[in-house]
Amino acid sequence: MCIFCKIVNGEIPNKTILEDEKFLAFEDISPATKVHVLVIPKDHYTSFDVVPPKIMAGMTEFIQKVASKLNLREDGYRLITNIGEHGGQVVHHLHFHILGGEYVGRLVGDKIKE
Ligand code: 5GP
Ligand code: ZN
Repeated sequence: MCIFCKIVNGEIPNKTILEDEKFLAFEDISPATKVHVLVIPKDHYTSFDVVPPKIMAGMTEFIQKVASKLNLREDGYRLITNIGEHGGQVVHHLHFHILGGEYVGRLVGDKIKE
């Protein structure tokens, strides 16, 4: 079972920001910015490349709720999903990074660790 599935089933602890029946938002263990939250579907999809669009519709709404809860919507934030080898994806369970709480730069490269 992948590490994010283990987070979903409680085997690995997490700092939850928001949760509903389908999605979970929790703090990244190694934050790249002041606010760094990961949003995942509870069901396992390897990446954005294979997720059904219907799931993404619900995820979009959920991400907006997380951004509201974190008070990021006024100042803005960055949303990233890495896909596959060239995308630098390390954990192969679809996740969106929400990065904010400070100016995160115009590009991603200097803020996201290797
Ligand atoms: P990726 O590079 O696949 O887009 O991002 C994976 C992210 O998962 C990284 O930012 C990494 O810090 C985070 N991460 C890896 N393992 C854990 C964990 O066990 N708990 C939490 N909260 N984050 C994790
Ligand atoms: Zn998984």
